[in-house]
Amino acid sequence: MPETSAHPRIVIVGSGPIGATYARTLLEGLPDARVTMFEAGPQLTERPGQSVRNIDDPDEKARAREMSQGPQAGAMRESLGIPAGVVVEGMFTARQGTHLFDFGGEGSAHAPTFAAAAGATNVGGQGSHWTCAIPRPSFSERIAFIDDTEWDELIDRAEQLLHAQHSAFADSAVGGAIRSLLSEEFGPDLPEGYGVSTLPVSGEPQPDGSMQWGGTDFVLGPLIEDGNPLAERFELRDLSLVRRVEREASEERGDRVTGVTVEDLRTRETSFVPADLVVVAADAFRSPQLLWASGIRPAALGRYLTEHPVVITTVALDAEKMSRFATEEQLDEELAQRAKHAADPVAAVNRIPFSEPDHPFSLQVMYSENTPFPLPDDSPFRGNRWGFVNMGNGLRKRPRVEDGLTFTDDELDYRGFPNFTVDYELTDAELSEIDAATADLRRIGETLGVFVAEPRLMPNGSSLHYMGTMRMGETDDGTSVADPYSRVWGVDGLVVGGNALIPTANTMNPTLTSVAIAVRGARKAIEALSA
Ligand code: FAD
Repeated sequence: MPETSAHPRIVIVGSGPIGATYARTLLEGLPDARVTMFEAGPQLTERPGQSVRNIDDPDEKARAREMSQGPQAGAMRESLGIPAGVVVEGMFTARQGTHLFDFGGEGSAHAPTFAAAAGATNVGGQGSHWTCAIPRPSFSERIAFIDDTEWDELIDRAEQLLHAQHSAFADSAVGGAIRSLLSEEFGPDLPEGYGVSTLPVSGEPQPDGSMQWGGTDFVLGPLIEDGNPLAERFELRDLSLVRRVEREASEERGDRVTGVTVEDLRTRETSFVPADLVVVAADAFRSPQLLWASGIRPAALGRYLTEHPVVITTVALDAEKMSRFATEEQLDEELAQRAKHAADPVAAVNRIPFSEPDHPFSLQVMYSENTPFPLPDDSPFRGNRWGFVNMGNGLRKRPRVEDGLTFTDDELDYRGFPNFTVDYELTDAELSEIDAATADLRRIGETLGVFVAEPRLMPNGSSLHYMGTMRMGETDDGTSVADPYSRVWGVDGLVVGGNALIPTANTMNPTLTSVAIAVRGARKAIEALSA
């Protein structure tokens, strides 16, 4: 860590949950530090970083999503001077609030084998659009070189920051009946502690029975509270694109960070902002791209890309099966309660977590009164009284150096950064697990009702959980970008954050893990900056 001023100046690139974890932990641990967080996208909500799922008004919600869609957003695109026409008719579509990296227009990345890869560009990052599922990693998903006791404490802290709810919607009679049916069928084969359960989520249950979904605002907490002393040392600048991490090299002190070059996207002015510590948490594609653009190019940068492939299906819940565990009166009560919160499609969330060796999948089961796609007028499932479940079985992708981003200095993307191409391939290891996950999902569907959509593998990149491109490792042996405390090997004062750090093959939603890793990195930085 560099020699610092008495008042450490910290710059954070990216305002998603991971940048927020650094901001909060560093300011709480360093009484004289100041944090400036730069975010390339706009602020969507009055309270910075809120989940757009909490916006009731459909027009407001649509507007917030549109504003996050970077090069694929109309008004936003024009305000940034990006030429119209980058959105190509008939292209692959991104989830609302996100934009594809390979959007097909001028300056688009090239990801033919990972076509659904997407990011969000807004205050709060993808954390304003996420589903809020925060399961803990288990078995081989855990990072072996972090001691179990320390890891458990880090995960506890991550759960506090995200306001984890372990029994969300546990009182839903429909959700309970789904758990009972699944437990009856699968329970005896699952190890203790890894059976059918409610899915932990980030949120705050409200007195009226609704859920306030978690976003970056939860993590920032006191930093965005009026009058809180921590807020006085925190500044969040939206529409501010960090173009380079700046360094200086000297013989005695090696390569060290001096600050960042930032472009104000409103004025188009570029300036240098000095810093003692720079944290890059700008997602698993744009963080390595920024490092590359800054001339920081360890061999593993952008490589070892993983996600978890997902097999999905939609099932109409069967009245006879469901009635074994819930009554018609309970269903009526539940539907009446749900009618009060029509804007929120999720009514109950259940799961079967990953366990080894016999259940190497993460199953998530979302109950909803409607299908996520329109049903034809003559569909026998229209108005299905017990509703539907949308389910996904996530499975592992083994990290391989061949999978990842290759940057090109002489071809720039729409932001003026070295463009990248993604190479990615599912190998026999994944293909056999995909078959097993599909068969498993079929059995789950038959346990609950009738298939409205057959189980199918989502296109590569659909999980939105991209890992490995700045992976952490125990030694600087060319297979990792950062050390076990998220510090980039060989560059003093540079820390990286996000799912890109995760070196293992995972089936679960990664944000909780990445927040825990960030808490660890921030604590180490506090030690160094206070020394
Ligand atoms: P992000 O949230 O992606 O934030 C990075 C930010 O950096 C962006 O706002 C971007 O604009 C900014 N940025 C990029 N480059 C620059 C630059 N040069 N200068 C300034 N700013 C820059 N995860 C789960 O664990 N559970 C879920 O249920 C879940 N569901 C999801 C559902 C959806 C629809 C989506 C989109 C994501 C979901 N995720 C889920 C993923 C989750 O949102 C991410 O894991 C999490 O947001 C990652 O946090 P982050 O801070 O690392 O990055």
